[in-house]
Amino acid sequence: MGNWGKWNSNSASMRPPIKTISIIIVIVLCIWLFKRYYPYFKYVRLGLDRDDLKKLSSPDIEGSWRQMHPDFMEKLTKVKRLVNLPSFTINSGLRSHRHNKKVGGVANSSHLFGRAADIHTPNPWYQRRVARAAVKAGFTRMGIGKNFIHIDDDPTKPQPAVWGYGGKKPPFNPFNLVT
Ligand SMILES: [Zn+2]
Repeated sequence: MGNWGKWNSNSASMRPPIKTISIIIVIVLCIWLFKRYYPYFKYVRLGLDRDDLKKLSSPDIEGSWRQMHPDFMEKLTKVKRLVNLPSFTINSGLRSHRHNKKVGGVANSSHLFGRAADIHTPNPWYQRRVARAAVKAGFTRMGIGKNFIHIDDDPTKPQPAVWGYGGKKPPFNPFNLVT
């Protein structure tokens, strides 16, 4: 860095200051790596694994779990910790408009905005366990399907709200499970 004068006076070396450029490249690279991997380490530390993050991504956009809302992610990690079963499985998280159409999601689905996930629930006992965990984690909107629970924290939609799917009423009210 102390060679500016020498560099300027030497007409043969009209090359850019390599050292400065390398430092800038290294700094930019570090920022990029941090921005790309920090959320990964953060959520893994909070208890989500690679498979969860993969399931949270829209299948047509690799790594799109990064577009999930951080507030939602925080609550979701709480749900997983409270459920505390190795079989905890996320069916779906973020959806691109294309993928949402493909799976028949509603037009203004909270999945589009990274504020919803569907959790697989193989039996009624499991379903109540997930619902209870979701209420404790602070979720106020839940759709209860045959073998899944949809949880979302979309602030633009009414809450609390509980609904069923396929014209069915929800089999129980999650908010009555937790006192
Ligand atoms: Zn859903």
